[in-house]
Amino acid sequence: MDIRVGILTAPHIDFEQRENTFILKNVRIGIGFHWDRLEDQEFAGTLEIRNNPDGTQTAVNTLDLEDYLCSVISSEMNANSPMELLKAHAVISRSWAIRAMQNPNHEGFHVCGDDHCQRYEGLRRMNERAVQAVRETAGQVLVYVQSDNVQGTKEEICDCRYYKCCGGRSEVWRTCWEDIDVPYIQSVECPYCGRVSERTLRLVLNDYDQETKDFHDWQVRYTDDELDNIVREKSGIDFGHITSLEPLHRGVSGRIDSLRIVGTEHTEIIGKELKIRLWLSHKCLYSSWFDVSHTDGQWTLTGHGWGHGAGLCQIGAAQMAAEGHSYEEILSFYYPGAQLKTNGK
Ligand SMILES: [Zn+2]
Ligand SMILES: [Zn+2]
Repeated sequence: MDIRVGILTAPHIDFEQRENTFILKNVRIGIGFHWDRLEDQEFAGTLEIRNNPDGTQTAVNTLDLEDYLCSVISSEMNANSPMELLKAHAVISRSWAIRAMQNPNHEGFHVCGDDHCQRYEGLRRMNERAVQAVRETAGQVLVYVQSDNVQGTKEEICDCRYYKCCGGRSEVWRTCWEDIDVPYIQSVECPYCGRVSERTLRLVLNDYDQETKDFHDWQVRYTDDELDNIVREKSGIDFGHITSLEPLHRGVSGRIDSLRIVGTEHTEIIGKELKIRLWLSHKCLYSSWFDVSHTDGQWTLTGHGWGHGAGLCQIGAAQMAAEGHSYEEILSFYYPGAQLKTNGK
């Protein structure tokens, strides 16, 4: 089964063909997030340069799904992570990718290579442990079986969402995306990410993720002028002077999915969690789980967690693996009610 990955769109794609691989120059990773940067990356499989109607080009890499997964799990997490974490990640990344192949997120290819879909940063962060994790879970996916009186039994591959750190409690689907209940994405109390050791973090996070230190509990401070400027720049709307930030609704974990921004020129209610994170930061707030205080011309946001919070907590899962839990245990902890199955069997 081949997957088509759109790695980079640019005015001109700069690449170098090697014997069995190719190198793409200046690939942007972490687009819009706080670790946004450029890298040169090396890939296996075939390269196609697509010419887009707007004059830009897109580099599309086609390769076997299982080979793609070896790179994904060593891009999302460090390939030196505990084996049970890598195996858990292989299963959820495979489940997610198969759904994306059936129902592509992009035009002309199935998935992109960045955080919007799953990180796919080529061969350079990969090692034989990542290959082993993918091989030992070959074809395994998470499924959810639903039975009702009308349609009988229906089985679907799970939409396995994940993120870096829940901050103590994971979130439900509707706080982040559509207003639906996804039975295997529940709010789970996670004690693991809060007690992860420095040593485990150094092992499980890739180089650029290690720059993020305070992801479980964090604080951001802005002067009045700074916040006014950030919101104006990110929203494209002049709110005038912002006088209050009012959380109107929170998900089960505490993540805000509806926030009223009151300004002297404009007032607006925004959501869901990602929009709130984008509008209140030069790049993107770690999460939308925060309390607001405003004193002496200074805003303080005191928050928890890194990412949307729905599904698997990567740092919590790493700690579970470090404490000796199996990948099956990790998966059933973060996706309650889902079952492990070999696809096509
Ligand atoms: Zn994407
Ligand atoms: Zn957690």
